[in-house]
Amino acid sequence: MSTPTPAAAHTSVLVINSGSSSIKYQLVIPDTHEVLASGLVERIGEPVGAVKHVAHGETTRRELPVTDHAEGLRVVLGLFDEIGPDLGQAHVAAVGHRVVQGGARYSGPALVDEDVVRDIDELSPLAPLHNPPNLTGIRVARELLPDVPHVAVFDTAFFRDLPAAAATYAVDTEVATTHQVRRYGAHGTSHQYVSHKVARLLGRPVEELNTIVLHLGNGASASAVRGGRAVETSMGMTPLEGLVMGTRSGDLDPAVLFHLYRNAGFSVDDLDDLLNRRSGIKGLSGVNDFRELHDLVEQGDAAARLALDVYLHRLRKYIGAYYAVLGRLDVIAFTAGVGENDDIVRAGALAGLEALGIEVDLGRNAGRKSEPTVISPDGARVTVLVVPTNEELAIARQALEVVGAGRA
Ligand code: AMP
Repeated sequence: MSTPTPAAAHTSVLVINSGSSSIKYQLVIPDTHEVLASGLVERIGEPVGAVKHVAHGETTRRELPVTDHAEGLRVVLGLFDEIGPDLGQAHVAAVGHRVVQGGARYSGPALVDEDVVRDIDELSPLAPLHNPPNLTGIRVARELLPDVPHVAVFDTAFFRDLPAAAATYAVDTEVATTHQVRRYGAHGTSHQYVSHKVARLLGRPVEELNTIVLHLGNGASASAVRGGRAVETSMGMTPLEGLVMGTRSGDLDPAVLFHLYRNAGFSVDDLDDLLNRRSGIKGLSGVNDFRELHDLVEQGDAAARLALDVYLHRLRKYIGAYYAVLGRLDVIAFTAGVGENDDIVRAGALAGLEALGIEVDLGRNAGRKSEPTVISPDGARVTVLVVPTNEELAIARQALEVVGAGRA
């Protein structure tokens, strides 16, 4: 028997993020930000999977074989039935699905129908690790929850309308057009959420603000946002370009690939594995979690020190470049796992930029931030903030807007 949800009068949205071997979910009330339940199914397809369901302040963990995504979602719905909250009483107005690649087609969320399903499928070559599992999640959820509208929220949408000069790679136009080679960006839901939230926090119209958002998590990306619209971003055709990341290289000379292919016996799959999984902080230091990296630096580990220096150097380079792209800079906002929690990275990235009006108050910067926090000194020309991202809430809001359930 499940307990009735306390906020049953409000419309809720079930947000689903379906990865290659996992399903992350959250049942959230967009109007109040209240999270009624959240959870994670991991190790789908392995002999023993792991399921975590958090509701009513309690965490339930199960270990059981989860053969595929359909089975995973059935387990999740079973937990809602058994532990709650009761989905029937939660007024679920929509299911919001995170989809990584929306290509040049989607500049906003879309109500899922057969055309949208086909588009996501057709865009899979541009996001081979992400779009197929995203689509599996959509297919399975539509079967299991057929009476609720499903909405796809694309990670690329915020960057669909980048200026052509920022979106275009300087390669043969016919090749680029035929093969859809351009900058699509990623983490767009987070960049949009944070850049708009900054305006509300500062009590300024978003149209007036020029902002650099630094989304620093295991994946990392920067964006330049002018008046609420993205004008540049560091991730490219795929989420490999740009900043140094946990296990991804970010920018490098493409000729490195020719060299390793021609002279070192690397296959294309080997190169993919090298740059996506064996590079970045992990490739340089052996660890990809910043807490471990700082421990190693403190112990005098030279490789870890170099990894941190390379990471901070790349960040500072992007901040300078995006300052120039924007012409005038009002705000820098840090977000995601590293951006919200790591004061060493925040202070290190902005060190030496005082002449640009960018300063950090070390006292304000100290520690982890679970709430929006200004970390620049009063009167600084550029306001520097930490703004915790909330991609689930952003997806839920967008899904609700699409289904027109209103925001009572
Ligand atoms: P995300 O991809 O946004 O979930 O970020 C995950 C990353 O955040 C981890 O790999 C860590 O490197 C980093 N992280 C999480 N907590 C902390 C912390 N307390 N201090 C420094 N880095 C952290």
